[in-house]
Amino acid sequence: MEESHQIFYGYVIVEKGLFKTVGKGSPSSKEIADADEVIDGQGKWLMPGLVNTHGHLGSTLLRGAGDDMPLMDWLKQIMWPNESRFDKETVTIAAQLAMIEMIKSGTTTFLDMYHLFMEDMAELVIDIGMRATLCRGMIGLCSEEEQEQKLAESVKLYKDFHGESDGKISIALSPHAPYTCPPPFMKRAAEEAKKHNMMIHTHVSETRGEVEQHVKEYGKRPIVHLEELGLFHSPCLIAHGVHVNEEEMVILKENDVAVSHNPISNLKLGSGIAPIPEMVSKGITVGLGTDSTASNNNLDLFEEMRMAALIHKGKQENPSVTNSLKTLEMATFKGAEALRISQLGKIRSKFKADFILVDPAAPHLTPWENNRVHSHLVYAAKGSDVTDVFVGGKALYSNKSLVKLDEEKILYEANNKLENFV
Ligand SMILES: [Zn+2]
Repeated sequence: MEESHQIFYGYVIVEKGLFKTVGKGSPSSKEIADADEVIDGQGKWLMPGLVNTHGHLGSTLLRGAGDDMPLMDWLKQIMWPNESRFDKETVTIAAQLAMIEMIKSGTTTFLDMYHLFMEDMAELVIDIGMRATLCRGMIGLCSEEEQEQKLAESVKLYKDFHGESDGKISIALSPHAPYTCPPPFMKRAAEEAKKHNMMIHTHVSETRGEVEQHVKEYGKRPIVHLEELGLFHSPCLIAHGVHVNEEEMVILKENDVAVSHNPISNLKLGSGIAPIPEMVSKGITVGLGTDSTASNNNLDLFEEMRMAALIHKGKQENPSVTNSLKTLEMATFKGAEALRISQLGKIRSKFKADFILVDPAAPHLTPWENNRVHSHLVYAAKGSDVTDVFVGGKALYSNKSLVKLDEEKILYEANNKLENFV
């Protein structure tokens, strides 16, 4: 993912969680002798780990529970009634299942917005070793007292966990969306974020109806309104941004607001297609996200990359509006930039040693040579082609085996929980 986009036969040396050397050819016998461990990745592609900039791990067990419904019906009939019954065990199994799926398909960093048991979630992520930005999602349709309680919980999560796990854990502040957070609460969230130096993450302009309702109620479009409320005074990442006009794109760019593009979730909920090529050409930072398995229905970022590369070509009837390199950028270092995580998403000396190995010995990746690798990764590869995953130089998935998580047990537990759902 360097500017030269060069692919070469080589090796990496990792020390203290960072790439120390990115070398061409083979390591010297001294470099091999000095290493504590040598991993032979011969014949595989080494690339940065993928970055998932938007999701809700706690609701993973709702995969397939409410297909083919519009966003508001889906939230009111499926998501919220089920989530109100979730206990800690359900959320823990859901989060473990999601992490298994993400690791096995090459994701090393993810953002999770959820409203239940986030402290336990942070402990779990630390134990498993992934890199994550966690935020306690806050819905503001409640009393002022409850709103303040939610803000206090978010700030406590930040104080307890931000920077933990050798810097792998970040905590953001997350008002859920303009349609669930009245303006005074959004303003309070903006104040708290500024005060504590927290990044903000929120859903914005996911559906046309939501934008129209906002204009009807407040006389202005959501992004214009959020700027006025001070939300963009802190580093901010918005999810979706499907219905964003020219004026709003200028506001996003001027305030350095990043966008999490979730094309599959947006298609599945019939929300629309975000104007991503327009945003990218204006210099807005765009990362990729899956959203939850309740609206995707999987967490495979390879699939998300392919969708992100394809839909804009179809929408604009122009195959050159996206390409494999730009799409890979969104799934790697642009995603890291969107999350404000520095030195992540490239195979470069001093960068975080989050990387994956992909096995190209498969019919759908054949034939290949160096100048077809980017193309294959976006237009042909699947998450299941990933064989090894490293975060901060530590293996989480080795030769197709999970290092920490017990997959068989967690799949069994997840199936056993099904009877609890409405
Ligand atoms: Zn979401």
